Amino acid sequence: DIVNLSGDILLKIVLVGDSSVGKTAILERLTEDTFHSSILSTIGIDFRVKTVRVNDNATVRLQVWDTAGQERFHTLTTHYFRGSNGLMLVYDITNLNTFNNITWWIKDTVENAGKDVGQVLIGNKCDLQVERGVTLDKGKQLAQEHDMQFFETSAKDDINIEQAFSALAEEIIKKI
Ligand code: GDP
Ligand code: MG
Repeated sequence: DIVNLSGDILLKIVLVGDSSVGKTAILERLTEDTFHSSILSTIGIDFRVKTVRVNDNATVRLQVWDTAGQERFHTLTTHYFRGSNGLMLVYDITNLNTFNNITWWIKDTVENAGKDVGQVLIGNKCDLQVERGVTLDKGKQLAQEHDMQFFETSAKDDINIEQAFSALAEEIIKKI
């Protein structure tokens, strides 16, 4: 299923988390290496494809899905998760509320995607250290409780974006 005719591995990854945490910005940084300081939070990009390197030599094609703002109503459809191999759970380190909601997102998404799906926790906007509202330790702890990898990222300054996707891809491949 995940290996296509030419033998390439293709994984479906979905971005999840509250509105304005930076999901679209993360996808734009990953696939276009750009950043916009004001993307209307309702604008999503469906999905984009990006090839990432795993285990130093192999490459994997990721089909990364973004929401179109429907996360504002906390209702992502089953369709969004269908066939997904990995979840990227994103909060904003300057907004404690978005961190507290991660527990809810985990419950909701695991119900939809199945518990075998790979997961990674992302604390985005780590360039905004002076506005930090969630400690690094809190993030680490939550990730540990759910047996997930954890990265603080900045879509703005391009910190840990590709690394986080590679780590998630590596974890998914290990389980195959
Ligand atoms: P989404 O609703 O989760 O898709 O969030 P967006 O990608 O639309 O981002 C919401 C706002 O946060 C926009 O104004 C972005 O420019 C800003 N933003 C996203 N990522 C970062 C980041 O890493 N650092 C900073 N400083 N701002 C960011
Ligand atoms: Mg968005």
